[in-house]
Amino acid sequence: MGSFNLFCFFIIIFHVFVATPIFSHSSSSISTKFLDLAKSPEVFDWMVGIRRKIHEYPELSYEEFKTSEVIRAELDKMGISYKHPVAETGVIGYIGTRKPPFVALRADIDGLPIQEMVEWEHKSKVPGKMHACGHDAHTAMVLGAAKILKQHEDQIKGTVVLVFQPAEEGGGGAKRVLEAGVLDKVSAIFGLHVAPAHDLPVGHVASKAGPLLAGTAMFDATIHGKGGHAAMPHFAIDPVLAASSAVVNLQQLVSREADPLDPQVLTVANFHADGAYNVIPDSVTFGGTIRALLPESIARLKERIHQVHRGSQLPRTVYPATINDDKLHEHFLEVAKNVVGNNNVHGMEPVTVSEDFSFYQEALPGYFFMLGMQSLTGEPLQSLHSPHFTVSEDALPYGAALHASLATTYLLNHDGAKVGAKNHDEL
Ligand SMILES: [Zn+2]
Ligand SMILES: [Zn+2]
Repeated sequence: MGSFNLFCFFIIIFHVFVATPIFSHSSSSISTKFLDLAKSPEVFDWMVGIRRKIHEYPELSYEEFKTSEVIRAELDKMGISYKHPVAETGVIGYIGTRKPPFVALRADIDGLPIQEMVEWEHKSKVPGKMHACGHDAHTAMVLGAAKILKQHEDQIKGTVVLVFQPAEEGGGGAKRVLEAGVLDKVSAIFGLHVAPAHDLPVGHVASKAGPLLAGTAMFDATIHGKGGHAAMPHFAIDPVLAASSAVVNLQQLVSREADPLDPQVLTVANFHADGAYNVIPDSVTFGGTIRALLPESIARLKERIHQVHRGSQLPRTVYPATINDDKLHEHFLEVAKNVVGNNNVHGMEPVTVSEDFSFYQEALPGYFFMLGMQSLTGEPLQSLHSPHFTVSEDALPYGAALHASLATTYLLNHDGAKVGAKNHDEL
């Protein structure tokens, strides 16, 4: 499509919606119109193009300079104002009145240190780096929502804050965004993750109230002994045996002490001695991860690991658990049913993977959900973080429409009287 045709299309869309302001309609009519708009070539093809562009140049945590440039260039073209840099490479955009209430939509923008093994036209051009977690699609979907929202900006009853966040993959970018203070006045935040699950087709979503994804912490320990000849262990103090015993004890913290109905994981994932066949080493180091859905369970495991290894550091919390706000769950159900249909909104069991979206939920009400990607006729998709991972681009309009609908409907329903005093300033 040439630029002249694109311009005409903009004019037509603009007139259609000026003639019939959709925000005066019910929330279900907003959602239907947003999905239609997200599926239109003007928005869909554009989102696919952005997703592929970002996919070709994946960047690791806090190095998303080109990605950030692509995002800002698109915001500039749409006339959307933004703050940059936030948390090194992050971009925070604003659509609406720039007055309260404020509601945020989050996209993570980083890739992974994985060599892409999928052969296709838009394969990663950066050796050893790949968007294997779908963050390229997340970014395209929030930009898609932005395009839809910008076309109806004069009807938005407050401000939609677009959060393009760096470093989700272990870098805690969400925490840095919060520390930058850019979400201080925000009343609620929404985020999604593409899900390659075989039972969640394109056009379906899944989530739940309360704990959704696990919190995680890392631990490491050193056991000191007294090295010596492997042939004469009675002259040495063997740290390999002591550390082996410690690993077995650690396994009992979950299997013997945790409530079986409160899911927890403790995995010792590395174990290092000197490596010789005939030497008892002076020391052994080992480490691993814990996962749990409840903050108190993470705290208990951390404390117990510390007790098993007296003198070692308390394990470091990487990410808290992702816990969905109950009221936002009701809001999500209502909006999602309007966007994708009653039968395509599913509950789900919690999962022991982690997300740094949880940092936002510690600071303000937040809601996270899974977006289906499986095609009913295609091959089963590969898991997240696989070098064979692929994204079903047909899912992009659903993500964009859900984001746009969740935000606008939230602002429409938001009771201004309940907004805290600090929220009554302009940005
Ligand atoms: Zn990931
Ligand atoms: Zn991810």
